[in-house]
Amino acid sequence: MQEKCCCFCSKKIIGRTDKKFCNSYCRTSFHNAQNGPTNKCVRQINLLLQRNRRILANIHSLLPLKKTVPVNTLYLHGFNTAHFTHHQKHHKLGTYTCCYDYGYKMIGKDEVAIIQL
Ligand SMILES: [Zn+2]
Repeated sequence: MQEKCCCFCSKKIIGRTDKKFCNSYCRTSFHNAQNGPTNKCVRQINLLLQRNRRILANIHSLLPLKKTVPVNTLYLHGFNTAHFTHHQKHHKLGTYTCCYDYGYKMIGKDEVAIIQL
């Protein structure tokens, strides 16, 4: 019978033949080592996207319908235009840059319109 070794610490595995790790610590450590850098990057971008969404949602909740705000209002709250989830075409209103369910669109040079999708 072939001896199996833990994929993380290389110790001999005792028990079921389909085991890849000697214990849950080794299994978790192995997957963290494989996915850690990717997960960290994804987590950081998700935080930026969520912050942008929160800023749009907060300003939108204070805006009367169909009004715009100075684009600087977004920047003052920490909005980062480099991070968005998608572009959404609205049949009447044009194309909005979105962070999840909120979108914004420049109106002229200095104003921005915000919608909830
Ligand atoms: Zn191990």
